[in-house]
Amino acid sequence: MQANEADLNKTEVVVVGGGPVGAAVALGLADAGRDVCVIDKRRPQKRPGKFGMDSRATALSPASQVLLAELEVWQRLKPTPYGTMRVWEERGTAELCFDAEDLGRTELGWIQESGPLSDAIWTRLFEHPNVQLIRAETPSAVAPGQQEVLIHLGERRLSARLLIAADGGKSTLRQQLGVKTDVWDTDQVAVTSVVRTSKAHANTAWQRFLLDGPVALLPCAEAHNAALVWSQSPAAAARRMELDDAAFRTELTQATEARLGEVEAADRRLRFPLVQSVTATFNPHHRILLIGDAARVVHPLAGLGLNLGFEDVAGLLRGAQGALDPGAPGLWRIYARRRRLRALSMVRFLSALQKFYGLRQPAPAWLRNFGVRLVNHSAPIKRQLVTEALGFGPVAQGMR
Ligand SMILES: Cc1cc2nc3c(=O)[nH]c(=O)nc-3n(C[C@H](O)[C@H](O)[C@H](O)COP(=O)(O)OP(=O)(O)OC[C@H]3O[C@@H](n4cnc5c(N)ncnc54)[C@H](O)[C@@H]3O)c2cc1C
Repeated sequence: MQANEADLNKTEVVVVGGGPVGAAVALGLADAGRDVCVIDKRRPQKRPGKFGMDSRATALSPASQVLLAELEVWQRLKPTPYGTMRVWEERGTAELCFDAEDLGRTELGWIQESGPLSDAIWTRLFEHPNVQLIRAETPSAVAPGQQEVLIHLGERRLSARLLIAADGGKSTLRQQLGVKTDVWDTDQVAVTSVVRTSKAHANTAWQRFLLDGPVALLPCAEAHNAALVWSQSPAAAARRMELDDAAFRTELTQATEARLGEVEAADRRLRFPLVQSVTATFNPHHRILLIGDAARVVHPLAGLGLNLGFEDVAGLLRGAQGALDPGAPGLWRIYARRRRLRALSMVRFLSALQKFYGLRQPAPAWLRNFGVRLVNHSAPIKRQLVTEALGFGPVAQGMR
């Protein structure tokens, strides 16, 4: 690719994909004084549903909260805090209960509507003097060189010191760069919705492991509204997507053992085939990084995907601090290794958890209940588990 200086748009960093992860990293780099260009095929859209809420919501960890506060985005959000998490299962009576108070905190995390989150980050991007927003599909060609990456966007050409791929789990840029990705099919599909229940959610995140997959009800701003994430076999999901509203609500009430009472109303249902994936490298060239879902996708059963993406962002912003050249050879080698290791360990952990709760035979089910009871009564183990889940444990911190 030949660069003609006259029509070349030079910038320090180009981010492809303005989802929450790409938009957050662009904002952080721009706040640090770098010129950033964000390419996305569309502006983020709010998807308001039946209850005046966005039809998708995400659990955010305290570590993500710290990042979003630093980016002056948190102050624009109205997330719902949750102080307790209850996890129980279909076969057995053992239950895990995590309480923020045990850690001296007031909350374990927050449930945030997805549309307003992206909207808040983008509002800051629109206002930012260091940010250029380009509405376009993936670059038609990318040529990484020693000093810069050349990016073709149809007739337009950009050059950047660093190119960041944040264009989601099906990343076209990743494919274009020829970066191999390991994909594990979970054999599950998530059916999501927002529902209204007869009992209040008590700012608790509820998750029941059914043999077919976990069903979670996550607390929303209104005390009787909850965001549903119901992972299940593809056949069960196909059937439940077709159920009429009343039948769906009845099945959901049964699946959650009516812990929140009757499911009285439900918004439209969305379905997400679930895979887990990790790319062969997060840093295929010294001037290219992959982050967010473009680098790894995890099962939503622990509400971690976006939080891991925000960990990528926090680590990247720290790594870029003070670097004269944000794509200098060797700058990202250790960061990329750590992030990939973290991704692989999370994928393995979540696969194991999915299998662990899917064991149907009486003996493994008995052992599982025994183990879960043991963990539930061990304050130090629980504290360690929760600290990691909040993003403040030694593993989460050490792998940024
Ligand atoms: C059912 C479900 C529930 C979940 N719940 C949680 C949770 O509770 N907590 C949590 O932390 N995570 C959760 N996740 C995971 C979370 O949604 C993702 O990890 C997160 O959205 C990834 O953000 P991202 O910015 O990397 O990618 P995306 O959100 O996929 O954004 C990618 C961006 O790239 C743009 N793009 C894509 N292709 C192109 C192209 N060719 N050209 C230009 N632009 C392009 C898109 O328009 C989009 O803006 C859940 C996932 C699912 C499926």
